[in-house]
Amino acid sequence: MAEYLKKIKRVLVDRAVEHTPLARRVRQRLSHLPWQVVDKQQDIAPSTDSNQVLYLKEYKGKFLRFCPGTRYYRCCGYRIIHIGENCPLNCTYCILRAYFQDKTLKVWANQNDLWNELDQAFGPNPDHLFRVGTGEFTDSLVLEPITGYSQDLVRFLAHYPNVCLELKTKIVDLSWVESVKRTDRVLPAWSLNSPDVYKKEEIESAPLEERLKAARECARLGFRVCLHFDPIIHYPGWEKGYAQIIEMIFDYLEPENIAYFSLGSFRCMPDLFKVIARESPHSTFIYNEFITGLDGKQRLLLPLRLKQFLFIARKLKQKGLNKQLYFCMESDHVWEKVMGYTPKRPGRAE
Ligand code: SF4
Repeated sequence: MAEYLKKIKRVLVDRAVEHTPLARRVRQRLSHLPWQVVDKQQDIAPSTDSNQVLYLKEYKGKFLRFCPGTRYYRCCGYRIIHIGENCPLNCTYCILRAYFQDKTLKVWANQNDLWNELDQAFGPNPDHLFRVGTGEFTDSLVLEPITGYSQDLVRFLAHYPNVCLELKTKIVDLSWVESVKRTDRVLPAWSLNSPDVYKKEEIESAPLEERLKAARECARLGFRVCLHFDPIIHYPGWEKGYAQIIEMIFDYLEPENIAYFSLGSFRCMPDLFKVIARESPHSTFIYNEFITGLDGKQRLLLPLRLKQFLFIARKLKQKGLNKQLYFCMESDHVWEKVMGYTPKRPGRAE
């Protein structure tokens, strides 16, 4: 079992989902851990070790949502399938650290409600192509060895050829592959960063080479993969670091293996700075020059951001990428300056 999964010390489960297939699977795979059935939310004792708790929950909210995106900036308009909250990888820059009040790893175990909601959304619209992903409020695959959630989702969505599922991750787990019927309807996706950022800010994730080997394996199996540089971090020597990871990518992949490649500069609500300063004092990138964007988020000063985007986009274009490149939450001004155009549909290079 991966080190980050060994940090889980106990499992809570809502009584309503105690006997679901997902809960039974988790119980079997974590049979060595204490298991507590919960009747009401109030029964959960407050704990200082919330990041060591896995909570299988009956989720009452909406599973399918539009990506929160952001006002005023272009976003890619895809939808989120909400399968749980929080992530044990603890990347220093992770927005979830300021987004959720506690660090409990939550998984929505009432999957029948999820399937019903998805069927109602996708079933009546067979001619509409939906691009969906699970990697917004957690990493898509980080709990896969325990829950098998993505494998269930892949099996379910095989009945909906109008849906393309992105599985975005920083770990390596290809157990879901065997359930895929159409490789053009699943986009395995890896977030990558410069080796310096990996070593300093995302140390519990899989090594970059491992992620790229997995991406190459997916390409060999007939998938096209998505890659993400998000967040791009500005630090002394960033040019060398991002040039290095770009070279590494093309040691493993051909340009035609890549469906989309997104670029997003580090941005966050101001609260995250306080969390990073308190919990990750070695993360000095937060002391850079940030301004408050139109959406209230802190963003790197525009000239610095543009310099990084221009450098990275030029290198990627030299490697043969072009139409696959897009920005996450950037303005028309940035699109024009870096790509030379503004996309017709939000976020899509076309
Ligand atoms: S892998 Fe993603 S979700 Fe998990 S801690 Fe890192 S940034 Fe957050």
